[in-house]
Amino acid sequence: MMKLRNFFVFTLWAFIAMSCSAQSKMEHDQTNHNKNNMAMTNKKTQNFEIQKTDAEWKKELTESEYRILREKGTEMPYVNKYYKVDKEGVYVCAACGHKLFSSDTKYHSGSGWPSFYAPIDSNAIITRPDNSMFMHRTEVVCAKCGSHLGHVFEDGPEPTGLRYCINSVALDLKPEEN
Ligand code: FE
Repeated sequence: MMKLRNFFVFTLWAFIAMSCSAQSKMEHDQTNHNKNNMAMTNKKTQNFEIQKTDAEWKKELTESEYRILREKGTEMPYVNKYYKVDKEGVYVCAACGHKLFSSDTKYHSGSGWPSFYAPIDSNAIITRPDNSMFMHRTEVVCAKCGSHLGHVFEDGPEPTGLRYCINSVALDLKPEEN
């Protein structure tokens, strides 16, 4: 029974990943929708403040954190840690603690992954083209350590029209600071 459920979730996940991408590309082709998209700017830099070797990252991160953050993996949808979480706080990078997203911009996208319509500020993340897996997507990485977080699509809600689709494993939710 468990195996069947896992197979179902995986199939759904693969389908959603493909359809998300197709939808995003279509919208991109149709219109230049992202008018206020401060974070879609692609600051080209590989000179991240935090530089570590693969061996160092491997030592510090769990197996799944390493696979997602450092090898651009994707976790399973729906069954991940923060998908349904509505708690207030700041989501920081699980690799380096850099502040990435506020719970204020988290919304229920139905995608199966935690979704935000904006990063916490313009220095939080960096985006860059990702043409892997036969898709044209925009990758989201931590601006401080360069770790892979997820992807951003142009089918989000107002005011940005963006959907930052982020792996729970890449995030740590910290209570709001006062
Ligand atoms: Fe980081």
